[in-house]
Amino acid sequence: MRFASIGSGSRGNGTLVQDGDTCVLVDLGFTIRETEKRLARLELAASAITAILVTHEHIDHLNGVGPFARKYSLPVYMTPGTYNREKIGLMPALELINCHQSFAINGFTVVPVPVPHDAKEPCQYLISSGSSTFGILTDLGHITPHVAEQYSRCDGLLLECNHDPDMLAEGPYPYPLKVRVGGDHGHLSNSQAAGLLSQIELSRLQHLIIAHISEENNSIEIVRKEILATLGEWQGYLTIADQGTGFGWITLN
Ligand SMILES: [Zn+2]
Ligand SMILES: [Zn+2]
Repeated sequence: MRFASIGSGSRGNGTLVQDGDTCVLVDLGFTIRETEKRLARLELAASAITAILVTHEHIDHLNGVGPFARKYSLPVYMTPGTYNREKIGLMPALELINCHQSFAINGFTVVPVPVPHDAKEPCQYLISSGSSTFGILTDLGHITPHVAEQYSRCDGLLLECNHDPDMLAEGPYPYPLKVRVGGDHGHLSNSQAAGLLSQIELSRLQHLIIAHISEENNSIEIVRKEILATLGEWQGYLTIADQGTGFGWITLN
């Protein structure tokens, strides 16, 4: 099983998870043209994608989903709340999911996990194939006990480290947006993300990807410092997901 990103952050997201003939795209916040360009960078043909999973209706996750699904006749999976919230047009095949129930896409088992975020019915996803599990966890205001439990055993984890609270407080955002981002239904701060890492099975985690980093309210240096301090003697690989380029393919053993 391998995974990659075509971009991560408030200007557009898209994560690919592939094993054999099955390849799912989680969220798509880019135009068709931009997506094709970014897929080419990963040497992946758009026709290799099996399905799209959507986490929630915010434009950085949903904007490109409809057009891309229609162009490539892809089934799209999302919660009814996400679907009803935004007009995304006709889908070639729409799969409305129950965010408390796992489902299969070919050889993948997908476990949706509801998260606290200021969207209608947001969920994040754990995707397993064989004995490997990859977890995607961005766009949530705090770590609930259910989230901590569900994400405790991952071989690969893409984790939001959105902001540093001091930088957010002193930064350029208008006050209501600061309250939203830093609130219980906003985004994870570096220390909230570190808090999750202190609760999970680090011995199993091969790859940790820091993602959805705010360009205004965070810095790579601060994130690294805070996360590395939590990881202690951890022997895995740390990757930073970039807004512009995402990151290249990472294979789980
Ligand atoms: Zn987002
Ligand atoms: Zn969001």
